[in-house]
Amino acid sequence: MDFTLPPEIDDYRRRVRAFVEEHILPLERDPANADEHENLREDVLNTVRARVKAEGLWALQMPKSRGGQGLPVIGMAACYEEMNRSIYGPVCFNCAAPDDGNMMVLEKVATEAQKERWLQPIVDGKVRSSFAMTEPMPGSGSDPSAMLTTATREGDRWIVDGHKWFITGAESARHFILIARTSDDRRRGLSAFLFDADRPGFEIVRRIPIMGPEEHGGHCEVRFDRMEIPDGDRLMEVGDGLKLTQIRLGTARLTHCMRWTGMAKRALEETFDHVRKRESFGSKLADHEGVQWMLGEAAMQVDIGRLLTMRAAARLDAGDFARKEVSMAKVVVSEALHNAIDTAIQLLGARGYSRDTKLEWMYRYARQARLVDGASEVHKMVMSRFLLEEGVDFWSWP
Ligand SMILES: Cc1cc2nc3c(=O)[nH]c(=O)nc-3n(C[C@H](O)[C@H](O)[C@H](O)COP(=O)(O)OP(=O)(O)OC[C@H]3O[C@@H](n4cnc5c(N)ncnc54)[C@H](O)[C@@H]3O)c2cc1C
Repeated sequence: MDFTLPPEIDDYRRRVRAFVEEHILPLERDPANADEHENLREDVLNTVRARVKAEGLWALQMPKSRGGQGLPVIGMAACYEEMNRSIYGPVCFNCAAPDDGNMMVLEKVATEAQKERWLQPIVDGKVRSSFAMTEPMPGSGSDPSAMLTTATREGDRWIVDGHKWFITGAESARHFILIARTSDDRRRGLSAFLFDADRPGFEIVRRIPIMGPEEHGGHCEVRFDRMEIPDGDRLMEVGDGLKLTQIRLGTARLTHCMRWTGMAKRALEETFDHVRKRESFGSKLADHEGVQWMLGEAAMQVDIGRLLTMRAAARLDAGDFARKEVSMAKVVVSEALHNAIDTAIQLLGARGYSRDTKLEWMYRYARQARLVDGASEVHKMVMSRFLLEEGVDFWSWP
């Protein structure tokens, strides 16, 4: 078993690391670079993005023919981790959610004409996108079969009516992927569509105030009132909505794990100087066994998460859906992230609770990790189903 990275991927990883160190981390030091939602200001972002393109590090997940770098999922894992050493990193490389997952699913399932119209502008960084699935009670949440938003066929068009929320990026997105109910069939009742932000009948009700810093475009509540979609803007076949969601979420969920591993490492990095230099009760913090256990535990959890992420990445590269591997990584990494940031705040003492470091930003951000793209409990439910179905073969080698 070989745990080394192929040389071409390691070369990308090193270049991403150097870019983040030189061009992105310094931006964190000046609060004027942040917008009112605690993300990178658009004009600053555009300057960095131009530099990323010039360095040949743009859109690592997309094929070279589209202007990307064509990395396999294991390559993305190694590089996304490096990107998220900075809280601003992934969006600078066009590797942030939800564009990242939207681009990958469109590349996999859209027709060539749809790719030109809807995908290419996202890859080029000319527009942003959103994925609209979740609804307020009693609609679709953890269980998509509760979906209430409907798309009803009228000739060669679909008429959409409904209500969704927590749609990331919606305020600044132009291209939307929508999941709506097209029949009452239990397994094939949902379908997927594409639409533009300025389509009549689509309304952003509000940008929902959240606990943490926000992605560009926030997390929005949206309404559909007889919004028309031409049948040509349907993705896949009628009834394939759930299938598309599964195709999207497999890799998209794992990219969260890649980025979160990078953020967890950064949180621990924030402690190094302090624990090495700070004297307490006659010795440095780093020499106290209690501190060593905290750091050792946090470092180990990050590494466990990374191993699970890399295993799932390798399964995805092999063409597998890797459902249980992705679920396992998602649960473990979301907890490792929280634990690493919590540990770092604790070890920095009062300064950890201040805004003099980015730890409090990360702490507020990290709470979403156990909810988005499937709550931890739902992923554990999936794993339990696999266990009971497969018995001891749950742990079999591929
Ligand atoms: C920051 C953020 C960004 C998001 N971005 C998007 C987006 O871009 N597009 C989009 O469509 N959605 C988005 N969401 C929504 C997200 O996908 C949902 O919050 C998630 O699927 C859970 O659905 P829910 O909120 O309706 O919770 P519910 O389904 O009501 O679940 C609530 C809780 O119940 C528990 N639970 C649920 N089912 C089970 C079970 N079977 N067994 C045990 N416990 C269970 C879990 O603890 C869960 O957290 C986002 C959410 C957040 C917080």
